[in-house]
Amino acid sequence: MEKLKYERPIINKINLGIPNKFGTKPKFEPITQIDGVPVQILAEKFGSPVMVISEKKIKETYKEAKRAFTTRYPKVQFAWSYKTNYLDAVCRIFHKMGSWAEVVSGFEYDKALSNGMPGNQIIFNGPDKSLKDLEKAVINKSYIHIDHFDELYDLIEIAEKLDEKPKVAIRINMNTGIYPIWDKFGFNLENGDAWNAINKIMISGKLDLVGLHTHIGTFINTVEPYGVATTKLMDLVIRINEKFHTLIKYIDLGGGFASTNTLRGSYLQGSDTCPSFDAYAEAITNSIINSGMDIENLPMLILESGRALIDEAGSIVGSVIANKRLADGRRSMIIDVGVNILFTAFWYDHLINPGQSFSYNSEETTIYGPLCMNIDCIRPNMQFPVLKKGDLIVISKIGAYNMTQWMQFITMRPNVVLIDLQGQTHVIRQNETLETITSLELIPDYLKS
Ligand SMILES: *Cc1c(COP(=O)(O)O)cnc(C)c1O
Repeated sequence: MEKLKYERPIINKINLGIPNKFGTKPKFEPITQIDGVPVQILAEKFGSPVMVISEKKIKETYKEAKRAFTTRYPKVQFAWSYKTNYLDAVCRIFHKMGSWAEVVSGFEYDKALSNGMPGNQIIFNGPDKSLKDLEKAVINKSYIHIDHFDELYDLIEIAEKLDEKPKVAIRINMNTGIYPIWDKFGFNLENGDAWNAINKIMISGKLDLVGLHTHIGTFINTVEPYGVATTKLMDLVIRINEKFHTLIKYIDLGGGFASTNTLRGSYLQGSDTCPSFDAYAEAITNSIINSGMDIENLPMLILESGRALIDEAGSIVGSVIANKRLADGRRSMIIDVGVNILFTAFWYDHLINPGQSFSYNSEETTIYGPLCMNIDCIRPNMQFPVLKKGDLIVISKIGAYNMTQWMQFITMRPNVVLIDLQGQTHVIRQNETLETITSLELIPDYLKS
């Protein structure tokens, strides 16, 4: 008699909480609506996937951030970080609430102008500003944050040529106790470059040094480094005043506040570890008011917070394409949201919920996107209820960086819909079509026939 073939058992972990009389408590709540608009309707009307932005959430978050700072320090100005989400409708919501624009390229600069920003409410950051960009910014009286010595010399030349005195700040990188130090940008403080740049500017007499800027990193989920950075900037403000009798008008602490997303590999949920705006504000404003600067000469505080202000306002409604078993028996689910439009899936464990009621059974699941690429994995491993083909899913907190870093690859970029305060929906970026993509392509004559 032939021996029976060994078959590897498939063991599925059943996650039992404390059962009540209905059985175990599901770990998930279905998300069936966003700001009162049923997700079913969103998918039917605008297609699946569709990106959704809540104006209500943007406003709530912004007001909370502003309150945290302005109740601790009177002179505060927010500047919206364009690269975090530069859809015009989103930028305009921030501008209407009083945010300036913070841009890092000529393209973003022009976008800010076309959104109605006056030049003197645009902060121009970044290492790559062309001579043309710089001239335009000088003429418009924007705040130019100098990144390196080559740019400093260019600006001095432009100032002479245009007979203008450009308003400048320098970007400074420094040791604030976090690792790695973001020393790609700006002048290093500890090696003397920052002080050297300040001296060069002051001695040239050609530039109006109005500010000091730093952006210590992104997703910084402790507040102490901001306190350290602020103290170091304030020390420079005092030193500049002592040596040159010049008052620095603002210090700009950049962005980098964490959002409540969960970083891949972290043990605790992001919503448990993300410092509050109050905590960031406390660290920063304490360092200003406890510095040696006299009260009447304290600088304005500029904040360029991006992800912390927009992440929670964005969601994607998508749907299940298929379910299958992987070679090791694990369940996998393919959804119509890939890493091409959800770039942040590379570093966040995104919050995913079913978009309708679902069975209580849940199982360890790998959630893949639709792309023909192995790296297209949205969640490598997550306890998830069993959904059917066509069921909806909602991915939350995706408002930051996805609508700027997304790429057209295999599939096209979807509609982006804004839900306004009245619960009305507005398409704020249309889905791409074949025409969108081929309209930029040219076919050489010899390939035409
Ligand atoms: C990217 C960036 C920001 C915004 O950063 P977040 O992490 O989104 O808050 C602000 N300032 C500068 C200079 C930046 O490069």
